[in-house]
Formats: sequence, C-alpha cells, structure tokens
Amino acid sequence: MSLRGRLTLLYTSIVGGILLLLSVAVYYAVSQTVTHQLDDNLRLRAVTVYGDAHIDSSGKLNVALPTLDLPDVFVQVWGRNNRLIVASQNISVLNRPLDAAGMQSSKPVWRDVAIVDARLRVLTVPLVLDGHSDRQVGILQVATRMDVVNATQQTLLEVLIIGTAVAILAAGLAAWISSLQALHPLDNVTKTALQITSADDLSRRIPYQGSPNDEVGQLVTAFNQTLSRLENLFYTQRRFLADVGHELRTPLTVIKGNVGLMRKIKDFDEESLVTIEDEVDRLTRMVGDLLLLAQAESGKIPLAHDTVELDTLLLEVLNQMRVLAHDRVQLSLGGIDQVLVCGDRDRLKQVVVNLLGNAINYTPKGGEIMVALGKVEERAQLTVTDTGPGIPAEDLPHIFERFYRGEKSRTRQRDGKGFGLGLSIAYWIVRNHGGRIEVKSSIGKGSTFVVWLPLARGECKESGKMKDETD
Ligand code: ADP
Repeated sequence: MSLRGRLTLLYTSIVGGILLLLSVAVYYAVSQTVTHQLDDNLRLRAVTVYGDAHIDSSGKLNVALPTLDLPDVFVQVWGRNNRLIVASQNISVLNRPLDAAGMQSSKPVWRDVAIVDARLRVLTVPLVLDGHSDRQVGILQVATRMDVVNATQQTLLEVLIIGTAVAILAAGLAAWISSLQALHPLDNVTKTALQITSADDLSRRIPYQGSPNDEVGQLVTAFNQTLSRLENLFYTQRRFLADVGHELRTPLTVIKGNVGLMRKIKDFDEESLVTIEDEVDRLTRMVGDLLLLAQAESGKIPLAHDTVELDTLLLEVLNQMRVLAHDRVQLSLGGIDQVLVCGDRDRLKQVVVNLLGNAINYTPKGGEIMVALGKVEERAQLTVTDTGPGIPAEDLPHIFERFYRGEKSRTRQRDGKGFGLGLSIAYWIVRNHGGRIEVKSSIGKGSTFVVWLPLARGECKESGKMKDETD
C-alpha cells in the first residue's frame, strides 16, 4: 500500500477508534441518566402509595389510589397470599403481577419487564407497615413505560452512528488531501531524480515552493546540495582526466621525439638524454602525487610523529630550490627562528617544496620570493611571499581543491610543471599536522601563502607513525 494510503488508514482508524469509544461512553451515560430519572419518578409514586397504605380495623390492608390515576403510571398492590388488593384503572384488566419475578424479593427492586408489546420499568416494594415491622403485609408494584428511554436510546444511536461515520469520512478525506499536499513535492523529487538518471544531467535542481525549513524543504535542499556536490565532482573529475591526458602526452611526445632524434643520428646525444631524463622525472613526480592523493582519499596515510627542526628543513629546501630559481627570480630569506614541530619530516618538506615550487614557477623573470619562519603565540608561522601575477579572486576558494588549476596555469604549456595537485597535497599534510594553510593574493602584485603549525611541546612522544585525521 502507498504511504498516502497507509497515512489515511492510520488517521481514519485513530479517529474511528476514538469516536467509537466516545460513542459507547455517551450512549451508556445518557441511558443511565434517563433510566435514573425514570427510577426516581417510580420511587416518588411508590412513596405516595406507601404513605396511603394502612391496615384497617378488620385487619385488612387498605390503599387509596385516586391521585395516582395517571395514564403513564401503573400501580398494583398485592396482599398476602398473592391476592390483588388494588390496581390503577389503566391496568384493571391485568390480573397477574406486573413483575412476577420481583414479587419474590424482600427488598425494593427495579426491573425491566415486557408485557404484551410494551416494555415497562417496574419498581417492586415489599409493604412493611408501622406496628407490623416484623411482617410483610403486602407488595407494591409501580411501573411506567420505557418509551422515553427507548426513544432516547434510538435517537442517540442514530445520531452517534451518523456522526461517527461522517467524522470518519471527513478525517479520511482530510488525511488523504493533507498527505497528498505534503507528499506532492516528494513526487517531484522522484521525477527529477529519475530525469537526472535518464538524461545524465546533474545540472538540474528540484524546484520547491514551500518553506525551506519544513521537512520536505530540508530534504529538497539536502538533495539539491548533493546534486551540486556531485556535479562539481564530475566536473572536476572530467577536467582532471583532460589535464592528466594532456600532462602525460606532453612528456611522452618529448621523449619519443628525442629517442627518434638519437636513432636518426645514431648517437647518444647528451642534450636529448637530459631532456628525456627531465621528462621521466616529471612523469615520476606526477605518478607519485597521484598515488599520494589516492592514498589520502582512501583515508589512511601513515605519518611519522617525530621532532622536526622546521628552520633546518626550510634552509635545506631553500638551497635545493635556488638551483631551480637560477637567476630568473630572487630567492631570499626573511626572518628565521629556531622552530620545532612534531610530525613527518618528509611530508612537511613536501609542503615547503610545493609552496616554494609554485612561487618559483608562477613568478616571472626578475621577480622576488621571500621566505620567513617565526613563532606567533604557540604556533609556527611559515610564510612564502612572491611578486608573481597573483591569483584571481574567483580561483582563490578553489586552489586547495584536488586537480584545480587556475585558468592561466591550465592554458600554459611547458612552463607549468604541476597539474593541480600540489596545493591540495600541501593542504592535506598541514591539516593532518593539526595546522592551517592560508593565502592572500592581489592581482599583479603577488601572493602570500602562510602555513600555521602547532609548536612541539616537549618531546614528540608517539615516535613512529601517526594516524590520519582526515578533515
Ligand atoms: P599546479 O601548480 O600544479 O597548477 P597547485 O595545486 O600547486 O597546482 O596550484 C593550484 C593553482 O593555484 C595553480 O594552478 C595556480 O593557478 C594557483 N597558484 C598556486 N600558487 C600560486 C602562486 N604562487 N602564484 C600564482 N598562482 C598560484
């Protein structure tokens, strides 16, 4: 059964059940009240007759009934030996007790009795007169028709049955309409999801006119956010494949060209060998980066937790990178403090290499790169500032994403050594050392990358590997 059908059935059953219980209670209470009224009337009549009853001088039981000759009240007074002493006019023809069973009772008793085609309420009272307290001198029976009770019960029953049926129908209808309205947007979600699947179009979003804060609104928002993320991932993946294809083709073409040249001249040309070696290095670096990121994405990269002298590491990288910078850009060292952090030396070195490598790569000839290391509060601050072209504002939120490359970097041919993984690797490493990486940049003036890392407090206890704390 559909969710809508189940909800309607549930609401209808609940309303129906409650109304049924309520109807039974109302029916019982009203019947009781009307019957009690009838019983009170009978008691009043009985008291009046009782007051008039007396034993005359001849020892006979005497009862006068003139005031009781009411059309709807029947009275019988029976003497000893079940002899009828007096009866009201309206039952003068009846020569048997109104309630034969009640005659046996030694206490006042109310009973429902059927006589001919009438239903009667009969009160039977044993007559025990003053001075004769130990002896029962007769039996008084007062009765009245139960028509009022029957009519009341009948009307009440009809009202309750019709009312309950109408209320159940109304509840069912209301439940059906409200669930239709509430679930209608879900149909939209299903349709859009199916269209997305069949048309393979992740750019579609689910429209929703209601409040974004209600349950369906939240579902639609969450679904749309998932779609945006998926679209972004697919876009990034597609772009990554194009980039990797391009990055792989270039060095392979160069290697093939140089091999062809050497075959032609039938000699190991030194220049060609150096070029081939460079391209193989580039390919090796790329495969290494890809493997590292694949491992990072799978969640577990072991990180050492040793004491690392960040200043020594920085000087080491600076010396290596000077070769790369040649005299194309000026590489200088600003302030440098002795800074100790806990972590994986090789990975931290990779962060500095990536940041410095980017700065050298993107800063045009004659530019300057300044590196500094200091302590601010309880943290190490490593700064790499360049006078390069800067990063456009629209690229800034994305540069730490995997495979993201600025528009200019992507269109460049041979000078771009990376392929959009360097910063995401650096970001991942810094985050997993409990640090943060920030960037400030202005177009035409240059960029500043700042790495914050927690300082080592005492010895780095956990020597060996530290667990990945993926963000
Ligand atoms: P890659 O350098 O391989 O393209 P990265 O992940 O290292 O990839 O950098 C991502 C992007 O950030 C680069 O493509 C480039 O657009 C931009 N970028 C990074 N560092 C700099 C910098 N120092 N100056 C200008 N742009 C930069």
